[in-house]
Amino acid sequence: MKRNARAHEAELFELDRQHLRRLRRTVEGFPDERSAATVLVEGRRLVNFSSNDYLGLARHPAVAASMSAAAMRWGAGSAASHLVTGHGLEHAKLEQELAAFTGRERALLFSTGYMANLAVIAALAGRGDLVLLDRLSHASLIDAGLLSGARFRRYAHADAHAAQRALTGDATLIATDGVFSMDGDLAPLPALADIARRSDALLVVDDAHGLGVIGPSGRGTLEHFGLADEAVPVLVGTLGKAFGTFGAFVAGSAALIEWLVQKARTYIYTTALPQPVAAATRTALDLVQRESWRRERVLALTTRFRKTASAAGVPLAASGTPIQPVILGSSETTVRASRDLFESGFWVSAIRPPTVPRGTARLRVTLSASHGEEQVDALVEALSRICATSASMRAERSLAHP
Ligand SMILES: *Cc1c(COP(=O)(O)O)cnc(C)c1O
Repeated sequence: MKRNARAHEAELFELDRQHLRRLRRTVEGFPDERSAATVLVEGRRLVNFSSNDYLGLARHPAVAASMSAAAMRWGAGSAASHLVTGHGLEHAKLEQELAAFTGRERALLFSTGYMANLAVIAALAGRGDLVLLDRLSHASLIDAGLLSGARFRRYAHADAHAAQRALTGDATLIATDGVFSMDGDLAPLPALADIARRSDALLVVDDAHGLGVIGPSGRGTLEHFGLADEAVPVLVGTLGKAFGTFGAFVAGSAALIEWLVQKARTYIYTTALPQPVAAATRTALDLVQRESWRRERVLALTTRFRKTASAAGVPLAASGTPIQPVILGSSETTVRASRDLFESGFWVSAIRPPTVPRGTARLRVTLSASHGEEQVDALVEALSRICATSASMRAERSLAHP
């Protein structure tokens, strides 16, 4: 137990020494009237290449207006949980619209994706069951697996054969990100769905980074692979990424949703999401469906980034989504690169262990429909300069210490 300041300081010093101390920066404003992509940090203008606002909806005036109007009408807070007196019309309508969007019988709102994942796994698996997770699953799925009390195993990343080998014969829940949050690649959902069907396991997909972005009409990873509802009975989505607002939902059969309402502790024992957030999300959901140019634009910028970066010698990962990690390896190099980018006017955060495995520290570049082509090109130029410098420093170090 670390109960005193001295112990905290010693541990913090150790984090500093290993270049693992996390740094929080304050957004002081949005200096550019026309672009949500530019932020003011420490008095400096930066182009933000680290948000999850893939479609440029987080600061959309119509979304903000819906939030303000709902706040004037319904108030800022829900004042109770959904099952007491906190469930309102905006929640009810948003749930219906999310069910329609995902093509499921019902959807259930949660305050965060973290809580939605805890709800699903702890309500559907327990002692005596097996929970299988991809090794690179989001932290909330891992915590959910631990909380459930089920036996819990992780299989090699995106490896359906490894998932199959991990089966034990016990009742099984397989959970995976649709699009992996730090890598941008897709889970092998058709193969996982096949294994789930043959072994009578339940497949849960957390499509936090797929919904709104991929699939022919933006309905996410399931639509991309053309998977039927029965193949993935439980779909988790978050609203703080492509939708630009806040919150999350679970979509599935009416029976599944009713079970969660009765059993999910992170649904029952918490205050309902504020109605203004639900109202803003309804507007965002409408924009996601009507303005398909946003999805086309962020994907076109992704292609542009990959083409120019690859020509400029920037190491790219196998990702076709707007999440484009530049894996540099050491935490020290990555922190230095992030700082250099900051000095050059770009906000690209350094993602290090334990968020990602040891030796795979990275710059996590994310593209947004709100970026300009010239901003993407300028980032690639800066990245190319920084990657060349860190490569030559590595070479010098290995000469100095052969
Ligand atoms: C962001 C994220 C979450 C958590 O969602 P919040 O609404 O931010 O709590 C869950 N799963 C994945 C894959 C995520 O990327």
